[in-house]
Amino acid sequence: MTRRLMQSPAAQALHRLQQGPAAYHCPGGHGVLRVWPDAESPTGLRLACTGCGHGVTADTKLVELATSDQATVEMAPEVRLADGTAPEGLRPDGTVRATAGVQLGNMPVSSGVWAALAALSAAVPLAAAAPALPVVAPPLAYLLWKLCTRRLPASQAVNTQRTPAAELTTGQQIRLYGTAGPVGEVSAVGADAMGRIRLRMVGGMELLRKPGQQVWQVELRT
Ligand SMILES: [Zn+2]
Repeated sequence: MTRRLMQSPAAQALHRLQQGPAAYHCPGGHGVLRVWPDAESPTGLRLACTGCGHGVTADTKLVELATSDQATVEMAPEVRLADGTAPEGLRPDGTVRATAGVQLGNMPVSSGVWAALAALSAAVPLAAAAPALPVVAPPLAYLLWKLCTRRLPASQAVNTQRTPAAELTTGQQIRLYGTAGPVGEVSAVGADAMGRIRLRMVGGMELLRKPGQQVWQVELRT
């Protein structure tokens, strides 16, 4: 059984991937990961470090990447909220659009509120010439913001803590870029030949980060 699995097209494709320039390396610096059987993996395979056991589950998207053969690909797992429902901002690529906003402590503040405040501060100096401006500008700015953003469903995400890229683990939800914006769920952590951390997201997206680079972990609320 194992022998047949290791000779399967998926395993062969992963072997080729691991011999090429895009091979997954161990974040611990032990070199290229090897293809191993794994009963827990949806494809029956994983990439593993023989030095420390660090592993990258070979999910269907990874095998798809290795084979570029769409025929055998099943549905990939998707990001879910704590209660098991899909986040409002879930996008086709598996990442989650999050409401733009600034956070005060643990409370996210909508960027619409900031748009209204910005309009107010811009309108106040003009009040002598147009007394109604400070009154109408903020709601107008808020309306405009609402019109611009309502077509795109988004989830509410709250930044919880900063973690070095090398210390992230499977299942954690993170900001893909910086302190705000889209969110993804880590499906595996590997490294490339240069020692940079390869963060694989649920859905197949990959991010390259320096090992010590701080990444915001988030809690998705809607
Ligand atoms: Zn290792």
